Amino acid sequence: MNYHMSPEQFREEGKKLIDWIADYYEQVEKYPVLSQVQPGNITKQLPNNAPEKGEEFSTVMKDVEQIIMPGITHWQSPNFFAYFQSNNSFPSILGDLLSSGLGVQGMLWATSPACTELETRVMDWLVDLKGLPKHFKSTENGGGVIQDTASSAVLAALLAARERKTNFACNQTGDNSGLVAYISTQTHSSVEKGVKVMGLGTDRLRRIEVDRHFAMRPDLLEKQIQQDLEAGLKPFFVCATIGTTSSNAVDPIEAIGRVCRQHSIWLHVDAAMSGTAALLPDYRQYFEGLELADSYAFNPHKWMFTNFDCDCFWVADKAVLIKTLSILPEYLKNEATEKGAVIDYRDWHVQLGRRFRSLKLWFVLRHYGAEGLRYHINQHIELTQLFTEWVKDSDDFELLSEPPFNLVLFRHTKGNEFNKYLMDCLNKDGKIYLTHTVLNGTFWLRMSIGQTQTEERHVQEAWRLIKEKAETL
Ligand SMILES: *Cc1c(COP(=O)(O)O)cnc(C)c1O
Repeated sequence: MNYHMSPEQFREEGKKLIDWIADYYEQVEKYPVLSQVQPGNITKQLPNNAPEKGEEFSTVMKDVEQIIMPGITHWQSPNFFAYFQSNNSFPSILGDLLSSGLGVQGMLWATSPACTELETRVMDWLVDLKGLPKHFKSTENGGGVIQDTASSAVLAALLAARERKTNFACNQTGDNSGLVAYISTQTHSSVEKGVKVMGLGTDRLRRIEVDRHFAMRPDLLEKQIQQDLEAGLKPFFVCATIGTTSSNAVDPIEAIGRVCRQHSIWLHVDAAMSGTAALLPDYRQYFEGLELADSYAFNPHKWMFTNFDCDCFWVADKAVLIKTLSILPEYLKNEATEKGAVIDYRDWHVQLGRRFRSLKLWFVLRHYGAEGLRYHINQHIELTQLFTEWVKDSDDFELLSEPPFNLVLFRHTKGNEFNKYLMDCLNKDGKIYLTHTVLNGTFWLRMSIGQTQTEERHVQEAWRLIKEKAETL
């Protein structure tokens, strides 16, 4: 006897669950986009203890509908305009399901050759599709690896940068004294977290001021580096961003890259949210200078129809990354690794074990084709431009600046309090969901247009609701 679900039952429940998910997507607009529950609402409906006796799957699904669904914020709704999109697609869901089904643990080439080789191939494809520098390819000195998130990618970059600067001494001695890292005041918080994790200390993280477009000023970066060098410190790492989280600002990669080259500093370029735009040749101007970067990351789990989690991370010199992170305990030794004939991705990131994430990315690339991806990304940018025009034509609203990609920052002219109240009221109504940022003390509404199912009518309706709400407040 056993307690397992039989293949027969799996077949039956699995098919029902696929139907359930398809129904969900068809009906997603009937839910309030932002979950309306209060803190603790879900917890109090869940028993204090795990069940002693197993239950019917159908009973569990009933609780999904009654307890879990009210506590869901519908990221896949076409009316989700908050934070950044985290768009999904059916081919991606199926790829993820297959990955679960195979249950592969791909830490080494030997633990599933296809898991490694498909990943390498797909990452090389993306170098060409996005027009990235060729040296990021695995066939050159570089190579790509799928990380869970952009945060993990930047941590790996920080560690490799540290080892390159200290000639691989820090890994052994733990002595990172004198090292200094640089970001702008607008850089994502994941770098600060990485600096904490690596034990550098946030006192050694310099925040460079930005220009009026919120992009890092390379002259001030240079000046700070000079000051630190004069003080006997060791500048080792700069993170530049293409599409900052707060306002989608684009740092001048080429100018920053030149400063980094001059002082042998590792340049990491973070394009987590906006990197997908490089699929469109017309948008590659924002990526100029990337050949000066030592590493680069973007998240298909944000804007390339691939479900969370999937961050693509490339390095220009894979030897440095591998030497920084490689470990080889006896129990992982195997012939393929010893011959040096294969990639073992466990040496490319912090964790050992890894999911077969390239499957979902491969499914997405093969389903849409480069043409399909370009079509939909371009459409999101066009909708963003449309929304931008409406804001510009309105007497009551103003625009921060022309959006480079698919995020619009705008506000009502009535001031911070009013805008915050307007946003809270809209989100409470649940028909759309949008969030905000504060720049130099000014409150801005953020409209991120990039959900898989978002069409012109959704953006139009959102604008109508925003204007209508503003008039009635
Ligand atoms: C979202 C984002 C991150 C963090 O992404 P995770 O993958 O969740 O770690 C980092 N940088 C930028 C620019 C982002 O937009």
